[in-house]
Amino acid sequence: MALALPADVRPADAMVPVPYRVVGRARETADTVTLSLEPVGSPIVTPAPGQFNMLYAFGVGEVPISISGIDAGQRVRHTVRAVGAVSQELCAAEAGAMVGVRGPFGTDWGIDSAAGGDVIVIAGGIGLAPLRPVVHELLRNRRRFRRVTVLVGARSPEELVFRGEVASWQASARITVRTTVDYATAAWKGDVGVVPTLIERVTIDPEVTTVMICGPEVMLRFTAAEVLGRGVAAERVRVSMERNVQCGVGRCGHCQLGPVLICLHGPVFPWSRVGPLLARREL
Ligand SMILES: Cc1cc2nc3c(=O)[nH]c(=O)nc-3n(C[C@H](O)[C@H](O)[C@H](O)COP(=O)(O)OP(=O)(O)OC[C@H]3O[C@@H](n4cnc5c(N)ncnc54)[C@H](O)[C@@H]3O)c2cc1C
Repeated sequence: MALALPADVRPADAMVPVPYRVVGRARETADTVTLSLEPVGSPIVTPAPGQFNMLYAFGVGEVPISISGIDAGQRVRHTVRAVGAVSQELCAAEAGAMVGVRGPFGTDWGIDSAAGGDVIVIAGGIGLAPLRPVVHELLRNRRRFRRVTVLVGARSPEELVFRGEVASWQASARITVRTTVDYATAAWKGDVGVVPTLIERVTIDPEVTTVMICGPEVMLRFTAAEVLGRGVAAERVRVSMERNVQCGVGRCGHCQLGPVLICLHGPVFPWSRVGPLLARREL
């Protein structure tokens, strides 16, 4: 299949990290931190919700991280979970530290195409990071959408990211928000169980509903199956994939999943495109 770079991405420029300074750092959970980054010189192009940047921890390496916030003054936010060398270094970055940024890359959630209908946002764990700008956009332009439902799951209450913000969305009553955890504590007031179990409690009008899902791959599969079972067309079910992206611009092939490259054709895909691929063993 022929691969084309998006018109606004020139390969040479796309490979050069732009210097950004850490201007804010908030701990989300024991292993997850949100960094607020400000350009030192020329900024990157303003990202769209769903896109990702390649973050370079100088001297350690570079990893793909979704954009979890698009702030005023050309600041971007990234929420990083420390799982290995690079992500640990990023999580440890204090205010004033420098980070290299390449991007933004990839497809977005296509929020505009959901206007006029219902939207269901479903996140598992740190999967809420790329969906947070979607919720912001839905709240900002609330009248453009009918029912808006946000379902958030985590392994335990301590592992819920953006806890205070999710509580404020819930309290505002402008959208319906439900939270669930696999393992509850005595103080937990939300639901208990995996995220797909929340879907049966949601009113779904399949003809006008767009669903946006991000989380571990197993969660994507079970969650997509639930909403498809409720009659939503696979084209209107969108998922964000997080596989092995290395160059970010469709050159190295590390993130290939059958005929698609996650960095170039994703990370946000309609289920009609990736569902059949994920059903194949060991792809
Ligand atoms: C498009 C995209 C967006 C992403 N957005 C975010 C984000 O917003 N926040 C965030 O914390 N992470 C995100 N990731 C995952 C992140 O890129 C990896 O966690 C990171 O590359 C790990 O690099 P490392 O050097 O720290 O660890 P490594 O030493 O490379 O890996 C350490 C461990 O983490 C596992 N791992 C590596 N990559 C992934 C992955 N993609 N998913 C799950 N496990 C992985 C490895 O198998 C290994 O067990 C995203 C990935 C992609 C492709």
